[in-house]
Parts: sequence; C-alpha cells; structure tokens
Amino acid sequence: MRLDDLIGLMSNSRTETWERCQAVFFYRYVQGMTKPPSASLARGRAYDRTSNEVYQEKFSQGEPLSLDYTRDLFASIWDEEKDGVDNWQGDTPEGVLDTGMKVLDPWLNRVVPYVDPTRPPQVKFEIDCASPNPDRDDAADIDPLFVIRGAADLVAHVPWGVGRFVAVVDHKASGKPWGPADALREMQPGFYRVGLPGLNAELFQFHVFRTALKEPKTTILGRTVGPQDTKLALARVSMARRQIANAFRVGDFIPNRKNVLCSRRWCAFWAECEREHGGRVPE
Ligand code: SF4
Repeated sequence: MRLDDLIGLMSNSRTETWERCQAVFFYRYVQGMTKPPSASLARGRAYDRTSNEVYQEKFSQGEPLSLDYTRDLFASIWDEEKDGVDNWQGDTPEGVLDTGMKVLDPWLNRVVPYVDPTRPPQVKFEIDCASPNPDRDDAADIDPLFVIRGAADLVAHVPWGVGRFVAVVDHKASGKPWGPADALREMQPGFYRVGLPGLNAELFQFHVFRTALKEPKTTILGRTVGPQDTKLALARVSMARRQIANAFRVGDFIPNRKNVLCSRRWCAFWAECEREHGGRVPE
C-alpha cells in the first residue's frame, strides 16, 4: 500500500472511519482486511437491495412495487444474505426478518411516494478537490489535490419541512434513537451539494429516514444544506488526510475504545484489536 493510494481517493466512509477509530481504518483500508458480514451489515445490505429494486421499478415504470410484493422481495433477499453471516452476536435470522417487515410499511408510505421518478435511484459521483490549507499539506508533504467518491441513495420532492424542496434522502438503521442533531452531524450532504447534478447548489434539504431496530420505529429527520456544510466537509477530509499520512509514516493507528461502535457486536475487528492492543472489547 502506497500513501498516495491511501489518501488520493477519499470518501465519506473513509473519513468517518478515521475519525471514529484509527485501528478500524488500519485493518480495513491499510491492510485491506475483509470479514464475513455481521447480522447488522447483512440486514443493511438486504434493505439496500430491496430499496434499490423498489426505486428502480418506480424509475422505469413510474409506480412503486406493492407492499405485498415488497415484503416477499425483502424475505427472499434476506434469505440469501443471512447465509453469509457467521456471527449473529445476539440477533437471530427470524428476528431480523421480523424487524425488516415492520420497517417496509412506513418506508413505502412515507418516502417512496415522493421519489422523483425521473432520476435514477442511486447517483454515484466523483469530485476533484483541493485542500483549503495547501500550506499545511505542503508541510505534511502530501499532494493537496485529491478525489472524493460518493453515492447518494435517492432524490425526492419532499412535502416535509418548510415548503416543497428537492431533497436527498438517506436510510439509516441502528439500535439507538437519533435526534435532529444526528442529522446535522452527517458529513456527506456537504459533498452531495457539489457532487450531484441538478441540485440547487446554494441550498437543498437532506433527510434521513431512520429506523430504530430494538423497538421498530421510523423517524424522518431533516436539515437544509448550504455552502458552509461543504466548507466543513472539505476541512474534515483534508485534516484526516494529513493525520492519516502521519500515522502511516510512523505506523501508529490508535484504537479508540470509547467510540459508540466499539463492541464485539458492531466492530468486525475486535479480535485483532484485542490481540494487538490488549484490553477487553465489551460485548
Ligand atoms: S474493537 Fe474498538 S478500538 Fe478496536 S478496532 Fe474495533 S472499534 Fe476500534
């Protein structure tokens, strides 16, 4: 792995992984380790595959799939995805299927009707970026030019919030409840603003369709996105690149046992981390 390859192409998930836990970043992106999916990851993939098919149908036919058809579709996709899971960590295949079914109904009623049928369901983009602090990049001896790669779930005309905005809607599923502040913490809307063709580059809305898994409940959280969001996102990625370069040169990637996803349930690398750094990762 060359440093240029590691930091020449950045993304939202690379940057957030770095900010959350440097050890995870090391295992995933420096060592290129892959793991069988956890139950949570497999569930996320089943949601993604199902939603992509539903959006694709709306894109090509103008109408979404029915609830019954979508339920059958999710069940058959889950049947495939569950076979790849090797560590259930307290979940069961039946439990995940049950939660998924409860999520489909509100999602079909509250989100899908507003999807813009003229836009493809997932838009991938690449943005050529320049560090806002080239002097600091010079001092760190790294190239201030890099590329951001990303993908947005879907673009919709939403009736929520103030007025009728063009919005990007992300899906999130987690065990914990989320509030409006969590939507504000998301970094990728700053890049959607410049990466997605046809969005109002000055201001658009970013909505999160959130599902709490322990007690299935859905929430729609919204926020507006403007130039300040892009400024912050670029600053965060640029700072992460300099820090990654330093860590790469000295070989020090610090485990962050205080991050909220540090557990045997949510971190696929907990065994490697315990072996290498000691301590005990909580269940
Ligand atoms: S177990 Fe915790 S500290 Fe170790 S790599 Fe995973 S998230 Fe990081």
